Amino acid sequence: MTTIHTLGFPRIGKHRELKFALEQFWRGEIDNAALEATASELRARHWQLQRDAGLDFVAVGDFAYYDQVLNHIQLLGCEPGRFGFTGAESELDRHFTLARGVANEVPDSCCGARPHDNYGTWALEMTKWFDTNYHYLVPELNADTQFRLNSTRLFDEVREALALGHTPKVSLIGPITFLYLGKEKSADFDRLSLLPQLRVVYGEILSQLKQLGVEWVQIDEPILCLDLPAAWKAAFEPTYNILNSANIKLLLATYFGTLDDNLVLACNLPVAGLHIDAVRAPQQITSVIDRLPHYKVLSLGLIDGRNIWRADLDAVLATAHAAQGKLGDRLWIAPSCSLQHVPVDLALETAFDDELRSWLAYATQKLDELGAIKTALDTGVAAAETAFSASRTAAASRRTSPRIHNPAVNARLASLPADADQRHAPFQARQAAQRSRFNLPAYPTTTIGSFPQTKEIRAARARYKRGELSAADYTLAMQQEIKYAVEQQISLGLDVLVHGEAERNDMVEYFGEQLDGFAFSQNGWVQSYGSRCVKPPIIYGDVSRPLAMTVAWTQYAQSLTSLPMKGMLTGPITILQWSFVRDDQPRSDTALQIALAIRDEVVDLEHADIGIIQIDEPAIREGLPLRRGDWDAYLDWAGRAFRISASGVDNSTQIHTHMCYSEFNDIFPAIAALDADVITIETSRSDMELLRGFGDFNYPNEIGPGVYDIHSPRVPSVDEMVRLLKKAAEVIPAEHLWVNPDCGLKTRGWAETSTALQNMVLAAKSMR
Ligand code: GLN
Ligand code: ZN
Repeated sequence: MTTIHTLGFPRIGKHRELKFALEQFWRGEIDNAALEATASELRARHWQLQRDAGLDFVAVGDFAYYDQVLNHIQLLGCEPGRFGFTGAESELDRHFTLARGVANEVPDSCCGARPHDNYGTWALEMTKWFDTNYHYLVPELNADTQFRLNSTRLFDEVREALALGHTPKVSLIGPITFLYLGKEKSADFDRLSLLPQLRVVYGEILSQLKQLGVEWVQIDEPILCLDLPAAWKAAFEPTYNILNSANIKLLLATYFGTLDDNLVLACNLPVAGLHIDAVRAPQQITSVIDRLPHYKVLSLGLIDGRNIWRADLDAVLATAHAAQGKLGDRLWIAPSCSLQHVPVDLALETAFDDELRSWLAYATQKLDELGAIKTALDTGVAAAETAFSASRTAAASRRTSPRIHNPAVNARLASLPADADQRHAPFQARQAAQRSRFNLPAYPTTTIGSFPQTKEIRAARARYKRGELSAADYTLAMQQEIKYAVEQQISLGLDVLVHGEAERNDMVEYFGEQLDGFAFSQNGWVQSYGSRCVKPPIIYGDVSRPLAMTVAWTQYAQSLTSLPMKGMLTGPITILQWSFVRDDQPRSDTALQIALAIRDEVVDLEHADIGIIQIDEPAIREGLPLRRGDWDAYLDWAGRAFRISASGVDNSTQIHTHMCYSEFNDIFPAIAALDADVITIETSRSDMELLRGFGDFNYPNEIGPGVYDIHSPRVPSVDEMVRLLKKAAEVIPAEHLWVNPDCGLKTRGWAETSTALQNMVLAAKSMR
């Protein structure tokens, strides 16, 4: 018999019940008991789904009110002392304080990642979980960190599952991954030195689970799919020797990539089983089977836990069959990783047509896919005929559907000249042409694109979507907002204006909605962090642009002023990164298709006399593959995609790009190779330190280092910004410097925005 299981299930709930309960709880509208009731209802529901689908275990330990790494921080008793907990606070209250800080006035940033502010007791830092869009809270570790078993929550959830008659498989983040993800908070300290005391606590956790009657514990060590320093690799064997003595079966789970140089290590650790990602790294299946000791089970992650496509069950079965031939009952099958990265239930998508729906599987459907595979393996395909034939039909229709395959797009890509990603002249020549065209002062001032998305703007959009506001009235309302933003900028004395992005709900969705090949779900929510969920667009087919997307708004804005109006677009890599991307062609092909659509928009803007065009690429860095060895290939196609989008214009048209982060130390050549005439980056929070790299690297083109932090309502003074600009001028030639905020202003209010920009303009003037 084949064993099937999942590494985790989304906890947010198919109607985002957890999100709404959390937010009610934070507003004081419901009490502890009500929040906990929602949580245990969700756990019970998700376990039942797993059982109904025929899984051999239910996943326990994947639930968290805010974040699973934070659960471990509490379980392991390493809540940082700076929070000053007295011991009187409940575990749940501490959970939220650690996650959200005390001041709690922390606004969302434009790019999903929430900033950490230096007022009140700031929350734990948040960062992306490997290459997903999920953010975890970072453990703070120092030489004094002491671990101790300090929570019963996990054990309570095991009892809860047992009481419901389930067979739990408990998931834990492994001790080495936990330390690896932590941040060192004292000098001359190596967090790996904490491992000996940490393993003791893991040993206690495992013994307690054993006492509860748990047979299997899934211990996640996804860092085995990274390039690890030697000391970290060496830490595995002694650690797992110790954990092994707890005498409970451990399934070592790896995911998001290939084990590669850690393959032999992972196969030989003293554990009872190994899980590998066979979706992202199918090539490792054979080598793992060859090296796996005969007493171990192998869990193959054959169902894509990172994407929403229905599995090709015949293909999965073929792989599973081959593995079964060698492993027999030691074969387990699972999704590639926890299902928390996909939405909960496709059944809620009532607005999709049947064909599109038939191509998709959300978490609930993925459980059923596992069930079908198990049935087919154990009793034959005939017993799972319904599932298999639906999968076959979907796979066939994806191969041939004219909605997916647009020959014109591919013909255009195929005939694209090799130099389609090159501007007509090198930067120096373009710079001269642009200088004589725009005649801007030294230290030209601009903004990153968005102005405050006010209540009024959002209300108008909501009414328009509900059909209560006509298209014409919506356009008028947005034009009023654009006019207001333009007038403000004129009176503030900015040099290069923007229209303010009033008409945009979101920088990716806005474009996706107008491009062919994209679909938008009604309920495809995925947790980003805490109660925050995102609904990524679904790129299902060849991408093309039926009509201009931004020209009318930009032209309207330009009609209000003779100052240069900067056109504002989202770049191909950011659109790709923040969407569910089709899996039937390489991501690079999809990126190039989007690039062509953006290129057409850039050219149309130029024809409409928009001389400065910004193509935002905040996600280019986060798209970097987990393994260094894959970076060059990625940077190659990502860079080419960006340049294709930017290179259809004349020398005197100025292309800007914007990136929210500027930690580019290891990829400067690739950033420079984008060859944008101007790049704007976030630098104010690092006190311009991040700019130093650009200087050291002799970054060739113009740069606008952000001079004020838009993540907080604080208004920086003129002096402060002058000081930052002086620092910038020490490392970048002054004639290459622009003056702008760190990022877009959509999360800010107008009052602080106007004052801050006024100060910013004064700072620029004093530099001239
Ligand atoms: N142009 C966008 C804005 O200003 C850029 C946002 C971003 O970088 N994430 O909102
Ligand atoms: Zn930004």
